[in-house]
Amino acid sequence: MKRRGTMRTVVKVCVLQLVLALMLLSCSTVPLTGRRQLNIIPDATVLSMSFQEYDAFMKENKLSTNTTQTATVKRVGKKVQTAVESYFAQQGMSAELSGYAWEFNLVESEDLNAWCMPGGKVVVYTGILPVTKDEAGLAVVMGHEIAHAVAKHGNERMSQQLVTQMGGVALSTALEEKPEQTKQLWTAAFGLGSQVGVLLPFSRLQETEADKLGLIFMAMAGYDPHKAVDFWKRMASQQEGAAPPEFLSTHPSDETRIQKLNELVPEAMKYYSVQR
Ligand SMILES: [Zn+2]
Repeated sequence: MKRRGTMRTVVKVCVLQLVLALMLLSCSTVPLTGRRQLNIIPDATVLSMSFQEYDAFMKENKLSTNTTQTATVKRVGKKVQTAVESYFAQQGMSAELSGYAWEFNLVESEDLNAWCMPGGKVVVYTGILPVTKDEAGLAVVMGHEIAHAVAKHGNERMSQQLVTQMGGVALSTALEEKPEQTKQLWTAAFGLGSQVGVLLPFSRLQETEADKLGLIFMAMAGYDPHKAVDFWKRMASQQEGAAPPEFLSTHPSDETRIQKLNELVPEAMKYYSVQR
């Protein structure tokens, strides 16, 4: 019996070592910020799953019939995309965006939400338009969501989930063995919404990274980064209602965030003045 117990311990230690080795091997650097992050899913796998999930989402949801608002979302999105591409080119990192197939859509929904899936699939819900108010407000949201995507925050969250909940198995194995649970993890990791009941807030670190990059992207796209502070203040005031919007559950907004945003604006303004 004792021998069996020892064996079990040995196996446990081995598995732990394997997971640790895997984690170390799969640590990659966040493009642009230099932070090390856990990333056990190959980019190609993330992109193909992203496009698949995105297509499924678009089949289940209705595009807005408001042509003016739809055109605005596409116009602002295109400007932010151009900004992101030139920022990556300046950093000598254009290869990071290969495989991207950008798309900007306005979806009919009361939910106050927006997201960008890996590969540049951006969806804005009509429910967030009263808070974004104008083009600059939209640029804040789209810049921020695109920043999460290009900084691979979703991949990082999905990797963390695979390690903590499934012992670090490959995504393909997880999908094969526990398809439903894996799909739920994906939806939560990439901010697709609460339809499945799992909401995973971005970490403070990821939020600050997305704010910093988002401000630069919007500034390069020709929008005053000061408008981001106004938007997040309007967003924070939504919290006072009965149920906070999905967007706030995944992107918490409070005094600390607004103060940090104020600190980040001067750096972003350098990119804004270049455009003038
Ligand atoms: Zn965020």
